[in-house]
Amino acid sequence: MENGIKTPIEKRIFTNRNLKLKTIKAVGFDLDYTLAKYISPAIEQLTFEKALEKLVKEKHYPKELLKFEYVENFAIRGLIFDIQYGNILKTNKFRYVKRVYHGFQKYPKKERKRLYTNKKVDLSTECYRAVDTLFEIPETYLFAKLIDHFDKSSVKSENSSYKWLYDDIRWAVDLVHRDGTLKNIIRENPEKYINKNELLPLALNHFKKNERKLFIVTNSDHKYTTFVLDFLLGKDFRDYFDVIVYSSSKPDFFAKSAPFKVISDGKCFEAERGNVHLLEAKLGFKGDSILYVGDHIYGDMLKTKQTSAWRTMMIIPELNEQLRIKQKVKGKVKKLIQLFELKNRTNRLLERTIEELNKLIRDKEDEFDNLNIQTVKQIDAKIEKLTLKQNHLNKKLTEVLTQIKEFEEEIDKSYNPYFGELFKEENELSLFGDQVLDFACTYTSDLTNILYYSPTEYFHTPMQLMPHDKEPEFMDIEVGEIGEN
Ligand SMILES: [Mg+2]
Repeated sequence: MENGIKTPIEKRIFTNRNLKLKTIKAVGFDLDYTLAKYISPAIEQLTFEKALEKLVKEKHYPKELLKFEYVENFAIRGLIFDIQYGNILKTNKFRYVKRVYHGFQKYPKKERKRLYTNKKVDLSTECYRAVDTLFEIPETYLFAKLIDHFDKSSVKSENSSYKWLYDDIRWAVDLVHRDGTLKNIIRENPEKYINKNELLPLALNHFKKNERKLFIVTNSDHKYTTFVLDFLLGKDFRDYFDVIVYSSSKPDFFAKSAPFKVISDGKCFEAERGNVHLLEAKLGFKGDSILYVGDHIYGDMLKTKQTSAWRTMMIIPELNEQLRIKQKVKGKVKKLIQLFELKNRTNRLLERTIEELNKLIRDKEDEFDNLNIQTVKQIDAKIEKLTLKQNHLNKKLTEVLTQIKEFEEEIDKSYNPYFGELFKEENELSLFGDQVLDFACTYTSDLTNILYYSPTEYFHTPMQLMPHDKEPEFMDIEVGEIGEN
C-alpha cells in the first residue's frame, strides 16, 4: 500500500509540524484507543449501564434509573463539565463558552451570556473538567441524563451545586474501570468490544522498518494489557516490542521519577511504573528521535511535549466520521461562504443608501426656502427611489441572514445534533480542534494508516492559510450581484 499515488482521504495522516520518519529511531504506542480500538457504541453502552448499576447498588440511587438506555451521538471530546451549575459546555479555542446544555436543554443565548460572558473557562480550577478521552463520552451522557432526571423530580434553586452528582458519577465510572467490572466483561467477549484489525501486525512491522525499536507505555495493568495484546496480535505479541511499560501512570510518567518494577528482563523488557528517563535509557534513544502514538490530548500529547522532545502522532478515531460529513456538507459550506459575502455587500450598499438618503433630506430642509417647485419635486422623487431601495435592501438582508442561520444550523446538526463539529465552534476552532493543532505533530484516524506511507516518509506541514487566502476569489467561489429593485 505504501507510496500509493493518492491516499484515500480517510487513510491520510495529517501534519501540524514537519516530521521526518527517517530520523525516528523508536516508536511507542498507547494501548487503549490506540493499539486497541474499542467498538462504539457497545463499549459506551456497557460503561453507562455498569456505572448506573453501581450508583443504584452502592449509592442507593432510585432503581428506576436502571431502565435508562444509552443514546449515542450526544457528547463529543473537548466538552467541559461545569460541575457547579451542572452544565456541559463547548468553548472556542479561547475557552469562551459558546454552547451550554443543562441536561438535554440548550441554554438560550441570553441565559448563556448571563452566566458565562467575559468568563474564560479555567480548566485548572476545581469547577471544570474537560472530556479528553473517548472513555469519558458515556459519563458525559450519564451526567446529562441524571441532571435531566433529578431536575424534573425535585426543585432546584439557582445556587444548588451539582458537585455531589458529578462526584458520584465520577466515582461510579472510575470504579467500573478499576474494579474489573468492565475488563471482566470485555475479557469474556473481546470481539464485541475490541476491533480486531487484521492490518495491525503489518502496521507494527511497517513502523519497525529502518531497525526501529517499538515500545508500549500504557496506564492499563499487566493482566489486562497482555490479554488485549494476545487478542490483537496473538500469543507471540512480545516479538513486536522491545519494551512494554504497564500501569505507567501517565501523565506522571513523563514528569515524575518512579522506578521500574521489572516483570521480565528478556528480549522484550517488561515493567510496571517507571518514568520517561528510565525508558529512554532502556531504548538507547531519546528526545526527538522517538515518536509516540496515542489518543489522549493531555496524557499522550501535551505531556510528551512539555517534558520531553518526543514527536507525536495522535489517533483520532472520530476523524473519519468528521471527514465523511465534511464531504457531505461541502456544497452547503460553499453556499454559506457565498451568503456571508452577499451579507457584507448588502450591508455596505444599505449603509451607503441610508447615508445618501439622509444627506438628501438634510439638504432639502436646509435649502428649502431657496428651492423652486420643480427642484423639490426632483428631490422628492430621488428620496422616494432611495427609500424604495433602502426597503428592498433591508428585506434582502433579512432574507440572507435567515438563510445563513438555516445553513449554519443544518451544517452544525449534520455533525452532532447537540454540539456540532468536533474541531470547530462557529467559525473558530473548538477547544479540541485547537489542542490537536497545538499539541500533536501529526494526526490520523488509525495507526494502520501508516501502511499508506513509506517507512521513511517526510510528513510536511501544509501551506498555512491567512484569512486573506480564504477570500471567495481565491477559493473559486462565485458571489452573485445584488438586485436593486
Ligand atoms: Mg488511550
